[in-house]
Amino acid sequence: MAPSAGVDDPGNVKVVVRCRAFLKRERDKGAQCLIRMDPATQKTILLAPTDDDDNSNTRRVLEDKEFTFDKSFWSHDEADPHYAHQEDVYRSFAEEFLDHNFEGYHTCIFAYGQTGSGKSYTMMGTPDQPGLIPRTCVELFERIHQDPQPNTNYHVHVSYFEVYNEHVRDLLQPRTNPPVYLKIRESQTEGVYVQGLTEAEVKSYADVERLMKLGDQSRTVASTKMNDTSSRSHAVFTIRLKQIQHSLLSDQTIERTARMRLVDLAGSERAKSTEATGQRLKEGGQINKSLTTLGRVIAALADPRRHGKGRRPRDIVPYRDSVLTWLLKDSLGGNSKTAMVACIAPSDYEETLSTLRYADQAK
Ligand code: ADP
Repeated sequence: MAPSAGVDDPGNVKVVVRCRAFLKRERDKGAQCLIRMDPATQKTILLAPTDDDDNSNTRRVLEDKEFTFDKSFWSHDEADPHYAHQEDVYRSFAEEFLDHNFEGYHTCIFAYGQTGSGKSYTMMGTPDQPGLIPRTCVELFERIHQDPQPNTNYHVHVSYFEVYNEHVRDLLQPRTNPPVYLKIRESQTEGVYVQGLTEAEVKSYADVERLMKLGDQSRTVASTKMNDTSSRSHAVFTIRLKQIQHSLLSDQTIERTARMRLVDLAGSERAKSTEATGQRLKEGGQINKSLTTLGRVIAALADPRRHGKGRRPRDIVPYRDSVLTWLLKDSLGGNSKTAMVACIAPSDYEETLSTLRYADQAK
């Protein structure tokens, strides 16, 4: 057994930041890159934009800000020798997380950031540039097929759900109108779970890929002013790995179950920056409620002493304050490992500052 690492072990929470390249529309308008990253210190610096506007009434005083994270990934300029590829992001922690899963412990990876900052690219990627989810699945099956433990049977199941306006919807079931929302239950034996959620058994990466596609097509997508295809929901992809090891000397078996949660969070932009009204505004509030609670939960786990008076026992970490954190409770804290990838756009001072502050308090 691996040594028990409690909630007060900050080594179990990693916070990294990743800066993407300019998009065409940013290049076209001659956007400034406001991000500097130092590969030696892992510092990320956000520069105040230089303002050509002489109308002092509309000018605000902005300052350069400096943050230090576990890792700063520079994916802005491919010609730079420090450019961070999808592979680099994966190798920096996801591989170690998979080891942890094979030891029987849960892991959780979040992508946080404003719409268009590179969350889906980091989690899912593209067919040419696969992200963390496909890489994790490929390596999972490679280990099972090429390097199995003796006398061990492996069972892998996946589920895919979204949390939208604090409701849970199964992404592996066809969309219906009105949508079917699933109930959350808690039991002594199973902990917190989604009642009736599809858990599909998968035997290969091809099976997983088919289900990921099915789920992605089903995600709640509504256009906003910022990005037409932005998703307003939190998407939680879960891989459950069950290992059953048979003893050669007796008829005893040892069972180990681990869950990998890979979460593409909804855009973190504040409702006002998308000029949201009505339903959108409500979504904004609900999205922020889950994101705010998640930030507080991770902060409490990362350093119980810093965020409370004295030691903060696990049961007062505010898991129950949002659906997302309640559902992920067993994958956050305890022996679980958690990583947050804060995705940032290169030229958006306000949103990037809010993302870096969020990531900083989760450290
Ligand atoms: P989000 O999921 O945060 O809304 P996306 O992942 O869809 O953002 O990224 C927005 C756009 O930027 C997409 O066209 C994506 O392909 C591109 N992009 C994001 N991150 C990178 C990166 N590191 N390298 C290259 N392109 C990227």
